Amino acid sequence: THFGYQEVPVEDKARRVADVFHSVAAKYDIMNDLMSGGIHRLWKRLTIEQSGVRRGHRVLDIAGGTGDLTLRFSRLVGPEGEVVLADINDSMLKVGRDKLLDHGATGNIEFVQANAECLPFPDNHFDVITIAFGLRNVTDKDAALRSMTRVLKPGGKVMVLEFSKTDNPALTKLYDFYSFNILPQMGRIIANDAESYRYLAESIRMHPDQETLKQMMETAGLVNCKYQNLTGGIVALHTGIKP
Ligand code: SAM
Repeated sequence: THFGYQEVPVEDKARRVADVFHSVAAKYDIMNDLMSGGIHRLWKRLTIEQSGVRRGHRVLDIAGGTGDLTLRFSRLVGPEGEVVLADINDSMLKVGRDKLLDHGATGNIEFVQANAECLPFPDNHFDVITIAFGLRNVTDKDAALRSMTRVLKPGGKVMVLEFSKTDNPALTKLYDFYSFNILPQMGRIIANDAESYRYLAESIRMHPDQETLKQMMETAGLVNCKYQNLTGGIVALHTGIKP
């Protein structure tokens, strides 16, 4: 319904997303490194650097999955701060919790199973909210952006790190070949699951482009919305402030 991006019926999409992440949870981190050639680490580092998160802050990492951002935030906010890792999928949450426990970093972290569309937190609660490679999996993205805005403090920042659109035709061609041919093959060989990785490629192609997402963030009530293209627009980092 939104901007013509609704590719499958609503419940079908939610079920498919659940199946995909239950299926990939155990191999999620290794696949991330392999499929992106490790570059996702740079995209995430940049997000952390630009977050402005500091000691004592309250941070929400929604669709936090295996907790890469949460781990770094938990070190930044220190014992006076708090990081909530929220995800709709209990398999991903479990892998995330185990990983963060292994890193000895759980004192200031809370794990919450939640849907981004209706966040179970009070109004005006968080200083910073991140959603990394999560928004494209959410069925009602406008509802998710509204919900994030509601739980953000005035002056707080939403950061959306997500696959986006390349503006270079040669890069787009190469990238399409990679996502629709090589990526599902890697999924088949390494995770024994080509279908999930085909879904991921499709969901990337269906996701709103930079300007559309910026518009959606403004419609949700955020101001000062802007984005930065990373790796030629394969990924974009959008930010917006709650007035
Ligand atoms: N943020 C992590 C990262 O960057 O590595 C994980 C990203 S992973 C590609 C996408 C995550 O979004 C999955 O863990 C999935 O369960 C979660 N997700 C999908 N739909 C969601 C929703 N409606 N609400 C909250 N989380 C959702």
